[in-house]
Amino acid sequence: MQTLTSKDYMDREARFGAHNYHPIPVVLERGEGVFVWDVEGKKYYDFLAAYSAVNQGHCHPKIIKAMIDQAQKLTLTSRAFYNNVLGEWEEYMSKLFGYDKMLPMNSGAEADETALKLIRKWAYKVKGIPKLQAKIIVCNGNFHGRTITIISMSSDPDAYNDYGPYTPGFINIPYNNIPELEKALADPNVAGFLVEPIQAEAGVYVPEEGFLKKAYDLCKKHNVLFVADEVQTGLGRTGRMLACDHENVRPDILILGKAISGGTMPVSCVLADNEIMLTIKPGEHGSTYGGNPLAAQVSMAALDVIQEERLAENAETLGKIFRKEMKKINSELIEVVRGKGLLNAVAIKPTNGKTAWDVCLAMKENGILAKPTHEHIIRFTPPLIITEDQLYDALERIKKTFMEL
Ligand code: PLP
Repeated sequence: MQTLTSKDYMDREARFGAHNYHPIPVVLERGEGVFVWDVEGKKYYDFLAAYSAVNQGHCHPKIIKAMIDQAQKLTLTSRAFYNNVLGEWEEYMSKLFGYDKMLPMNSGAEADETALKLIRKWAYKVKGIPKLQAKIIVCNGNFHGRTITIISMSSDPDAYNDYGPYTPGFINIPYNNIPELEKALADPNVAGFLVEPIQAEAGVYVPEEGFLKKAYDLCKKHNVLFVADEVQTGLGRTGRMLACDHENVRPDILILGKAISGGTMPVSCVLADNEIMLTIKPGEHGSTYGGNPLAAQVSMAALDVIQEERLAENAETLGKIFRKEMKKINSELIEVVRGKGLLNAVAIKPTNGKTAWDVCLAMKENGILAKPTHEHIIRFTPPLIITEDQLYDALERIKKTFMEL
């Protein structure tokens, strides 16, 4: 049998696949914990962790066991019938996060869409906003996914341009700006404020301390729902179970995805209390795969792992080490190091013709995989199971790369 090289795999994707991504040129075939291996057998630290979907590490044995056990029994019923696992998962999630109810979906974008629908439904059924008048405040620099409605809220030309006409009903304000939020909230037709506690895709922009709490209090004052998209920041990544926990804020609607399945399958959900959740009636919203028993078992195992292995605590401790060590690197390429927990980024100042992309290619040679976002920013988000020894080893490789450049 002929063995394919990395180049063969990449050429085949380029020929038969849509060109909607620009991957780092590495072809992976195996993963375990913080490590992945390419088809030539080279081992790497995964410092992207599938955009924080693999917080529990690759192929975590407990999650994979839950997956296999359930896959051999029942995988999908659709919501036309009950299954014997969904209710257990709903109870697990409601109790863990402290909400009356959960609504399961698949991708992060679908969960965001669900939250937008809940905000609008609540606007008309509870708040009493006149028909078709509800508005939702969102922030410039946001990333909530790729659907037409979601990109209608986007300020990123790559996400937005050439996909109009757009969904109306959004007010864009600058991120981390309380006076602008207050101004926008003065409109009586505003029903919700949708925000990422840290703008991860935009390049890991951490708002000022107190921003979330102030924003939440202002929303309460104006009878507006505070809605947190924790698809990327949630589930231990920033050093707490939720990034909102840093400021003791309990969102009215909480959106989760990615690591909720530990990188095994697309699972997402929205959590809210009855006043909001019960505005949606049977037949008004759903998804064929949403709430399937396989996702339910996998998700409970994935959340068990986050708690049992104290992954948020590990992220908090190792995040501090990461930023401290990165700030010590003496390289003209490094403009700034920022982040919270193990959600970190380094802004690269192009120097001697070297860009963030070149840094990522060079890190790959030294056994570290990461990917630039918005040309000049590199995100460093390893699985949260990374140990201190592994982190120091990875830091040595990152330092070496900057020295070589
Ligand atoms: N929301 C946030 C904050 C995200 O970071 C992402 C993806 O990166 C999404 C939503 C979309 O999730 P998905 O790619 O699963 O649709």
